[in-house]
Amino acid sequence: MIPYGKQEISPADIDAVVEVLKSDFLTQGPMVPKFEKTVADHVGAEYAVAVNSATSALHIACMAIGLGKGDWLWTTPITFVASANCGLYCGAQVDFVDIDPKTYNLCPVALEAKLAQAKHENRLPKVVVAVHLSGQPCDMEAIAALAKEYGFKVIEDASHAIGGKYQDEFIGSGRFSDITVFSFHPVKIVTTAEGGMAVTNDAKLAERMNLLRSHGITRDPALMTHEPDGPWYYQQVDLGFNYRMTELQAALGVSQMERLDAFVARRHQLAKRYDQLLADLPIVLPWQHPDSYSGLHLYVVRLKLNSISRSHREVFESLREQGIGVNLHYIPVHTQPYYRDMGFKAESFPNSMVYYREAISLPMFQGLTEDQQDEVTGALRKALGEE
Ligand SMILES: *Cc1c(COP(=O)(O)O)cnc(C)c1O
Repeated sequence: MIPYGKQEISPADIDAVVEVLKSDFLTQGPMVPKFEKTVADHVGAEYAVAVNSATSALHIACMAIGLGKGDWLWTTPITFVASANCGLYCGAQVDFVDIDPKTYNLCPVALEAKLAQAKHENRLPKVVVAVHLSGQPCDMEAIAALAKEYGFKVIEDASHAIGGKYQDEFIGSGRFSDITVFSFHPVKIVTTAEGGMAVTNDAKLAERMNLLRSHGITRDPALMTHEPDGPWYYQQVDLGFNYRMTELQAALGVSQMERLDAFVARRHQLAKRYDQLLADLPIVLPWQHPDSYSGLHLYVVRLKLNSISRSHREVFESLREQGIGVNLHYIPVHTQPYYRDMGFKAESFPNSMVYYREAISLPMFQGLTEDQQDEVTGALRKALGEE
C-alpha cells in the first residue's frame, strides 16, 4: 500500500537520536531548547515552546490567551478535531465558520458575516483558530483585520504548513496572528514521532505556555510569589500539565529541520507532476493562492461527480483496493457525534459538506517516487472509469 503520508528518516536522524540515548539527559536537557531555537529562527518567531503534540500546543495556546468558561472559539469544520477540541478543554464553547470553496480554508467573508451577527447577539469569539489546510495559508491579512475590528485573538493551526510561506514570510512569523502551532506527527512534513510546538512574538504568552507545559511550575524567582526557600525550591503558580517533549524527540526534530526546505521543495515537485498527470481527468486539482507557498502536507483532489459514473465512495474504495492508501481530510468536525450532540446541523456549513462529498487526499510525502506517483495516477484513472 502506498500511504498518503510517510516520514523520511535519514542515517543522520538516527545518529542524532542515538547520541541523546548515550547522553546524560533523556528529558529536560539541552536538545529541546535547541529545537525550539531552530524552529523559531527558521520561521522568524521570537519565542517557541516545544510540547508532546500539536494538540497540547493548541490547548496551552488557548489557555495562555485566557480562553475559558463563557468564551467562544471559532474554527473551520474542515480540520482535525484537535483544532476545535482545544476550546472545549478550556471550558469554552465552539462554533464554526464555513470554508471558501476554492481554498477549502476558513472563509473570511463568511467570518465577517458571522462576526457582524455575533456582535449583535453579544457572543463574539475570543479566539479564532485559522487552519492552513494542506499547507496552504489562510487569508491571514483579512482575518487579522477582522481580529482588530472585533477584538479577538488568532491562533494559526499550522500543523500542515511548516516550511510554507504567506506573503513571502514563513508561516509562524506571527505577522498576522498571536500564536502559531506546528505538529510533528509522522505524517506531517517534519517529524519527532509525536510532538508539537507553539511559536509567538509575545513574551507574556510564551512565558505562560512555558509554565503550562510543565505543571504550572517555575524555578524562576521572578515568577514566584516570594523569595525561594532555598536552592531546592520551585513554585507551582498555575495549574499546568505534563506536556513536555523528550530530548530524543527534539534531537530528531533538529536533525529533520535541516531538510525542511528540501522536503517542501520536493513536495512542490510532486504536486506539479500530479497537476500535469491529472490535468485531463474529471477532478478539481488543488488551487494555490499566488501570494503563498504551501507546505503541501496534502494533495487533495475533488471529484466532479456530475462528470463521472462512479460515486465518491466507489472511487475511494477502488483506489484502496488498488493499493493506494488514499485518505479523506477531513470529516467535517461539526458532524462528529460529539459535536452533533451539541446541536450542530450538518447543512449549517454547506461548502464544507460539498467538499466532504468530493474530496480525496492522494499520497504526498517527500519519499514518494515518480514510479509510485505513476501508479497512483494510473489507479485514479481506472477508479474514475477513464481508462
Ligand atoms: C495533526 C493535526 C493536529 C494534531 O496534531 P498532533 O501533533 O497529532 O496532536 C491538529 N490540527 C491539525 C490541522 C492537524 O492536521
